[in-house]
Amino acid sequence: MNRENLWKNYTEKEKIRIFKFAEEYKAYLNSAKTEREFVTVTEEELKKNGFTDIMKKKNLKKGDRVYFNNRGKNIIAIIIGKDIRSGINMIVSHIDSPRLDLKPNPVKEEEEFALLNTHYYGGIKKYQWAATPLALHGVIFLKDGKKVSLSIGEKEDEPVFSVPDILPHLAYNVQDERKAREVIKGEELKLLFGNIPIKDENVKNQVRQHIMEKLKKDYGIDDDDFFTAELEAVPSGKLRDVGIDRSMIGGYGQDDRICAYTSLKALYDIKDPVKTVMVYLTDKEEIGSEGSTSLKTTLPELIVGKLLSLTEKNYNDQILRETLWNSKALSSDVTAAMNPVFKSVHDSENVARLSYGLAFAKYTGSRGKVLANDADAEFLQEIRQIFDKNKIKYQSGGFGKVDEGGGGTVAKFLAYYGIRTVDAGPALLSMHSLFEISSKADLYETYRAYKVFFELN
Ligand code: MN
Ligand code: MN
Repeated sequence: MNRENLWKNYTEKEKIRIFKFAEEYKAYLNSAKTEREFVTVTEEELKKNGFTDIMKKKNLKKGDRVYFNNRGKNIIAIIIGKDIRSGINMIVSHIDSPRLDLKPNPVKEEEEFALLNTHYYGGIKKYQWAATPLALHGVIFLKDGKKVSLSIGEKEDEPVFSVPDILPHLAYNVQDERKAREVIKGEELKLLFGNIPIKDENVKNQVRQHIMEKLKKDYGIDDDDFFTAELEAVPSGKLRDVGIDRSMIGGYGQDDRICAYTSLKALYDIKDPVKTVMVYLTDKEEIGSEGSTSLKTTLPELIVGKLLSLTEKNYNDQILRETLWNSKALSSDVTAAMNPVFKSVHDSENVARLSYGLAFAKYTGSRGKVLANDADAEFLQEIRQIFDKNKIKYQSGGFGKVDEGGGGTVAKFLAYYGIRTVDAGPALLSMHSLFEISSKADLYETYRAYKVFFELN
């Protein structure tokens, strides 16, 4: 494929548009650092763009804009086209990101420190999470059923939390010989949470006692309310421009909220679609799509069935199966970009490059394509036709060299329904780190490409 760095050919006017688009993207992600927050922000945004709750609809007609919020962690938006039965054009991405979840009994005291015990979520390099400021986000239900939403550690005047690392001076025996995966071990991912004891010799854990009293006073939280909570520690701070030329964006959670954001922006631009179009933002992808807010549920059937039951007189389950079978999907997820420091893991002819546009991964499994959704040539050529016609910049790129490693996406769960599916998304550097890097050019081209995909007939 004859591709090149997109920045070479942009006009000044285009650059201004791209940089402005990036500003809006950064602001959106700064306000949505967990799947729950992303759904909350997105539901508001959908309403502003004329979408209404599908469960409140009595009927549906062409041009209607509807959404479904699944338990606050997974959201789906749809614009009804000329019909539904001929298949839906869907862009599916995930809004959960790797992080540290608090354990159900998180608070312990060691050496007069209150510590929060965590269990990491998704594929992380554990050492990256030590000695860096972290914020706590999530919800906690009190005994009376009241829901408390928390975000501590994002504003300048709020405290942050941190996993203590060992100083290099004393790391010789305890850490220096460990393998990279164990530089910090899972059980060592404990957050510093407090250090002030109460003055009461009858209490055993005086620091713990002090912070529990503070949590009760400030938030109404009791010790055992952590059982009815979902609290996530994520990197504190905002997305930033990277590079003296400001060509890149660095920050947490771009896998895969960059795809969620661009697909939503594309959807808002669609006026009167021929095909019914859908943005499906799922949860739990990073732990293998398990759970009732993940894609590995019957929610696709529930939603498409709902659409059909509101539009078809003689709705039956065969119509549902045919509609899904006729549908087309981009499993829209980020891929690995050529890393200038670690070139050896990539096959240079088959790697995506930063600033080369939307990257198609024909398959994501790398060890004998095991567990991969191996997209068919027929579907790819359909996409190529319409992308070339609309001058969309794209590239093909796999994950790494054969047998080098590999990862999975939601593609195979879509393919299960017979939905023609291919993985496509922007490439990132430092994926799954606390500071993932994307290209502003790719961000913008991904949005343009998604708009065109919705028009696929
Ligand atoms: Mn992903
Ligand atoms: Mn991921």
